[in-house]
Amino acid sequence: MSSERGLSKKEYLRKLSGVDEVLKLSEIQLMMELYPREVIVDATRLVIDDLREHIMAMEDENKLAQVDLSREAMVPQVKRRVEEIVSPSLRRVINATGVVIHTNLGRSILSQEAVRGLLEVASHYSNLEFDLKKGERGSRYSHLTELIKTLTKAEDAMVVNNNASAVLLALAAFAKGREVIVSRGELVEIGGSFRIPDVMRESGAILHEVGATNKTYISDYRSAINENTALLLKVHTSNFKIVGFTQEATIEELVELGKEFDLPVMYDLGSGVLVNLPSTQLAEEPTAASALKAGVDVITFSGDKLLGGPQAGIIIGKTRYISRLKRYPLARAIRVDKFTIAALETTLRAYFDPQKAFEEIPTLRMIMTPLEELRRNAGKLAEMLRVKVSDRFGIEVKDEISRAGGGALPLAELPTSVVSMTPKFCSTVEAEQKLRGNIPPIIVRVKEEKILLDVRTILPEEYNEIVEGFGKIESRES
Ligand SMILES: *Cc1c(COP(=O)(O)O)cnc(C)c1O
Repeated sequence: MSSERGLSKKEYLRKLSGVDEVLKLSEIQLMMELYPREVIVDATRLVIDDLREHIMAMEDENKLAQVDLSREAMVPQVKRRVEEIVSPSLRRVINATGVVIHTNLGRSILSQEAVRGLLEVASHYSNLEFDLKKGERGSRYSHLTELIKTLTKAEDAMVVNNNASAVLLALAAFAKGREVIVSRGELVEIGGSFRIPDVMRESGAILHEVGATNKTYISDYRSAINENTALLLKVHTSNFKIVGFTQEATIEELVELGKEFDLPVMYDLGSGVLVNLPSTQLAEEPTAASALKAGVDVITFSGDKLLGGPQAGIIIGKTRYISRLKRYPLARAIRVDKFTIAALETTLRAYFDPQKAFEEIPTLRMIMTPLEELRRNAGKLAEMLRVKVSDRFGIEVKDEISRAGGGALPLAELPTSVVSMTPKFCSTVEAEQKLRGNIPPIIVRVKEEKILLDVRTILPEEYNEIVEGFGKIESRES
């Protein structure tokens, strides 16, 4: 059977206007004064393509007549598409998930001090590679090296683009064409894009796996050592933990073995905390200083995980090894830019006073926020929401658990308080989508048909924006 007007999909599609016809509309002509012509042409083409796809996907030809094919009906869509094209793609979002180091949402946010440092260097010339005392060329690394040495008590330090590149550099420089011994239980994948075996292949080092997934003894490393062995590697399993019947070689044992065979020991620490976290379950995370004290030769960790700074890979250890890394040609390809240096330097300076670090660095502050404070804040947010949207949502405050994220502290359960929102007029899925489409987008947790707002990661100035975002979710049409 065909539609009311007796047209098939194909016949109906023939009535669809072409780009040129739409462009002739006066409203579209007016837009040309505000936006580049090419952008409007592209947007129009996308709108027409969408309509065509929509019609082709329709199962009931009887409903074809309900699709408005007029040029005029396309105008709002074209406007929306143009807005999408011209507005920045990378934008701020509100993280209401409670996951502090959320890799998809940009991991750590910077402290106000780090932002100021960054801004200053971004908008002015700087002494990036200029020695102000001597009046001659200097090194970009000088701004960070002494600082990291003081904070970690390391002999030497270096900073590269991220931890993945730090591991790549070290493996290439120490073990190209030679063997690296790693425990099977530590061949981890982090966030899908970083796998130890893949990085090892790229570096030209040869992976020599030892032990079983759950158990690796120091004797396994010992019997794997041969004339082609270049490095003993330990990898922090970051985002998972093997529990139960397990065994791993300790750092101390590896260091001893390394000394015996004159082999360097490297530790990919992943998150790399610089201070002891003052809580029992968080204290499990090894600090860079403790690993160093155990005698590890080279340690690598990220700048934007628990450290709470910008994306960076920090390498610390014995001068004998770090100086080789600094000279290795690949180092130039993965060097840090001035923005990273500025933000990292300011972040690191806060660590001279650990109390200050906990107050100033958002990642640390969020992880350490006491439950009492979180409950108070959730109560406040719930109250603000009740005033505005209690007719449309069931609103409750509940205790929940948040995670540190970023592959740090996989088992740590951070007790938190959430505002649980139950939509009365639409599905949770729909509400979640609308919040995601809000300006700024509000990213939430969904659990058992409820939208959870975890106040741990919500900034004070975002409470109003969240209330407004919920206020805009009105009906299916909005
Ligand atoms: C996160 C992580 C990496 C990758 O660090 P990036 O800074 O994201 O490059 C490497 N190793 C471990 C153990 C990690 O946890």
